[in-house]
Amino acid sequence: MSHDLKDGLDERYRRVLRSGQSLASILLDYEICPHCQHVHRIRARAARSCPVCKADIGSGRIYAPLMVYSLINLIQDLYRMELSRISVTGERIVERKGARHYVGILLLFCTLVECWMACFLRSLMVSHHLPKADIDRLLSDNWRLEDRKGRLFKTQTGEAFGNAIKDLTRRNKEAGGDLNYEGVWSSIENAIKSRNKVIHNGAIRAFPEHLIGECVRNIDGVNQLFISLHNRYIAQASTSREA
Ligand SMILES: [Zn+2]
Repeated sequence: MSHDLKDGLDERYRRVLRSGQSLASILLDYEICPHCQHVHRIRARAARSCPVCKADIGSGRIYAPLMVYSLINLIQDLYRMELSRISVTGERIVERKGARHYVGILLLFCTLVECWMACFLRSLMVSHHLPKADIDRLLSDNWRLEDRKGRLFKTQTGEAFGNAIKDLTRRNKEAGGDLNYEGVWSSIENAIKSRNKVIHNGAIRAFPEHLIGECVRNIDGVNQLFISLHNRYIAQASTSREA
């Protein structure tokens, strides 16, 4: 699984991951068209038009929610952090990467997914012109991620979440991409199971340490997944069902 995901990484994300630059900065490459709401990667900074509706975008607007940037920065800060302790003889010992202290990365990664899902569903319901009070109530009634991607997603899109990401993977492949959204979501579910064991049972010793690296590698897949869901269900050009 992790091998497949690594192979599916965007080349820019690979470079940023290797160089230690800000992972969140990749999201600055994406903007939302003020006319059709399509989210796309910025090709050039000057004289730009929307690749879907062809309207002039002007100065553009960065797409991702601010909370997403903050969470990705926090995950990266933790991942970079050097963990050390002083032995009984006064010797400074550097902990290896993947030490259990990095459980914070697992918690923040799951929060990142929950944050993206909440923002996506709220934007979707706004696009359906639901009153704010109804949107707040639906999100409150469906506060668990399982309910949000289950019944709330289905009532708002008419499709099961599993079928939606399966179709996004197929369309991505047809467009020459190699990102497997089903693989990304399967990895997210593993992370969430471990996160729940940690926060509900204190099972810090039980979580698989390889999950930490997998969470960091998966950040871009999570971002791409929710950008694709936005373009499929929220952008006005979604009548073309672009993935
Ligand atoms: Zn447009």
